[in-house]
Amino acid sequence: MSACRKISILGATGSVGRAAIDVIAGARGSETEFSVVSVTANANVELLASQAKQLGAQFAAVADEQLYEDLKTALGGTGIAVGAGATALVEAASANADCVVSAIVGVAGLESTLAAVQSGANVALANKESMVCAGPLLKEAARRSGATILPIDSEHNAIFQVLDRPERVEKVTLTASGGPFRTRTLEQMKAATPEEALRHPNWSMGSKITIDSATMMNKGLELIEAAYLFDLNADQLEVVIHPSSIVHSLVSYDDGSVLAQLGQPDMRIPISYALAWPSRMRLPDVQRLDLAAIGSLEFFPPDTKRFPALALAQQCLELGGASPVVLNASNEVAVDAFLQGRIGFLEIADCVEEALETLIARPATERQ
Ligand code: NDP
Repeated sequence: MSACRKISILGATGSVGRAAIDVIAGARGSETEFSVVSVTANANVELLASQAKQLGAQFAAVADEQLYEDLKTALGGTGIAVGAGATALVEAASANADCVVSAIVGVAGLESTLAAVQSGANVALANKESMVCAGPLLKEAARRSGATILPIDSEHNAIFQVLDRPERVEKVTLTASGGPFRTRTLEQMKAATPEEALRHPNWSMGSKITIDSATMMNKGLELIEAAYLFDLNADQLEVVIHPSSIVHSLVSYDDGSVLAQLGQPDMRIPISYALAWPSRMRLPDVQRLDLAAIGSLEFFPPDTKRFPALALAQQCLELGGASPVVLNASNEVAVDAFLQGRIGFLEIADCVEEALETLIARPATERQ
């Protein structure tokens, strides 16, 4: 008998949201079928309306309140309920779904992610910034509601898949592609344009995470995300550069065994894992791994001199407290400024460092 799971997608119009819709659409007629409860976007009314119609969603919400009438018009006559603003996003997150895909970019996704966790649904978490800024809050909310947080960040999904004995874990290794500037000098990176930084070698993603990959802040945020998700200390976490993004992360146990999850860099794999959990679903369109054709897998240590954002995140991981919030907030502002051409590429990490020095490193008395 086929199971039908009810899914909501926060950030449906983004890169992860669209990949989730691909998985859902591809599952029609298979052993795991899905129905869609709600979909959300920030401002892309046209795409959101067409997704809501295609999926037969019950509710569509747009974060920008001014776009309420546009969305209402676009969905007129369909019977799909419409909402706008922060409350509507929370409503979409708390609707009666079995699984909520949390794929809004940035800390803007925190309120709706928290609402999804509080609803007790499974939460397929892509929105790493909410875990970085409020990991303990989300974990406690999940404990109270019975929600399971299923990471769909490929590295964390890999860890989730191979973490069967948490009490025996010695170390968790996050792999990093190194991004588009892996082999660039500091001088070359200084002159990097947004267009160059947006050209990721392996993954096709939204602009914010692509810039984070170029600075390696993405890996830093992922370290903090992993620490909260899997209750790990800073000294249990490390990063290794693995340019081809085939090994998605590794867990080392205290008997010397190392378990890893491998696969093509295709977000449909971790997304489907989270949607179907604790089962798995068949993805006939995903390219299979051919190790003989790949030949070799390379690994290198990260270079925190050229990628200081990673070192800053590692410091915040050790420091804890409010430092991950400051790290994330200043990074969001700096990435936006870089994309708008207001600051240079290397200044992203400079801005974050300055914010941390101003707000975290100085004693409280000096801060007034
Ligand atoms: P995109 O930029 O492609 O999409 C972002 C989504 O969030 C869009 O639906 C967008 O709506 C919506 N959104 C943007 N701002 C707001 C806001 N203020 N309020 C409500 N909704 C908003 O991002 P990605 O899909 O690349 O990334 C989403 C999250 O997933 C990020 O946290 C990222 O780090 C994480 N992630 C992404 C991966 C990837 O492969 N892309 C891999 C692993 C993690 P609109 O279209 O209307 O602007």
